[in-house]
Amino acid sequence: MELHGGHISVESEGDTKGSVFTFAIPLVLTCDEYRESGSIISGPESATQCSHANILSGESNRPRILVVEDNSANMKLITNLLEAGGYSTLQAFSAEEAINILKTQTPDLILMDISLPGTDGLKATKVIKSNPDTSHVTVVALTAHSMKDDESRAKEVGCDAYILKPIDTRIFYSTLSGLIKSEGSGAVA
Ligand code: MN
Repeated sequence: MELHGGHISVESEGDTKGSVFTFAIPLVLTCDEYRESGSIISGPESATQCSHANILSGESNRPRILVVEDNSANMKLITNLLEAGGYSTLQAFSAEEAINILKTQTPDLILMDISLPGTDGLKATKVIKSNPDTSHVTVVALTAHSMKDDESRAKEVGCDAYILKPIDTRIFYSTLSGLIKSEGSGAVA
């Protein structure tokens, strides 16, 4: 629940009395869902996503983001957030897989988990930034709050920005939209 930005609690009056589990997670709406809701559900996050999806309208114009993340729950959360925000996604569960994908595809941005089994995100970023075919691709490090050194090390190896985990969706979207300028026709803002 916390990985999804929510929380969970349990209450029980004791043995054989049963238990009540309560959880809450933030609702992420796509632009269409937001419009259909007739703005009944409002909030800064929904509004940001909707205007973002408008700017990035058109499937083929959607910026492509390669997500490198070994934790499957995090992968699901991140790709859901990206797709709700108007991005298309590529997934790699290891640095090796990411480097393989980059041989045939050029994403607009890479979200790179630093803590990966095998080659870690820092080494992978070094490889990406030292290859002339991929050195221009923006790399955003995903670092855990507890790993303070990761931030400076991420910058050292060439990461363009970093996002802390657990992810704050507003910071997540504003960081990405600051780094990706919408391309092609249909850009309004
Ligand atoms: Mn990881």
